[in-house]
Amino acid sequence: MKIQSAVVYSEESQLVVDQYESDRASQNHNYWSDDEVEEVKREIKSHYKSEQNLTCVYCKVKYPVQHSAVWDVEHIVARENSPHFMFTPKNLCVACKDCNNEKSNKHVLTNRRRVRYPTRSSDFTIIHPHIDNYDDHIAIHLGTIYSPKSDKGRETIEACGLLRFSYSAGGWNSAITQIPDLMETANNMLNEESEAVRDQLMMQILLLAQIQLSNSLLIDD
Ligand SMILES: [Zn+2]
Repeated sequence: MKIQSAVVYSEESQLVVDQYESDRASQNHNYWSDDEVEEVKREIKSHYKSEQNLTCVYCKVKYPVQHSAVWDVEHIVARENSPHFMFTPKNLCVACKDCNNEKSNKHVLTNRRRVRYPTRSSDFTIIHPHIDNYDDHIAIHLGTIYSPKSDKGRETIEACGLLRFSYSAGGWNSAITQIPDLMETANNMLNEESEAVRDQLMMQILLLAQIQLSNSLLIDD
């Protein structure tokens, strides 16, 4: 479950990219907002929406909406931190707005001063959608609990704010029927070294207690 093919630019867009990349000294992340880049951005978005089957690389939620306003072009290494990777095909994908906003310009490189784009999984602190298999690093339970299987999984949950799914109580009616699965997850998460992940579990437990309490009040009536 990773991106199989990176974007290939049209001839015209490649010229824009080549020109930007030829002059390292003048590279600036604000160029992304320049009118010249509009078509390049459109090509990137269109390619990855299709390649990713309208699924966000970080939360794995599928948003079956083609409209480009729903999708953000995501720079895996933020363009603010490494403007020279702004058009590198393997540094690009699409993400949902919530993940993209949360991840913002957080650092994800183990060595921040890389000049050539890194290609090894270990060069990145989070799941790299072109390099890593998501399932090796995060398990998603009941669509709301993101439990890490590795350091990368843990970092990704924190960097992209995946705890937010726990705030939504929507899926919890069905969750009550899945207690055994839940207990196993809870057991694994209790042993997590990440405080944020343990907090997420506490939140879920409180939520479940609240639902059970309100159910029992209904029965008493
Ligand atoms: Zn997302």
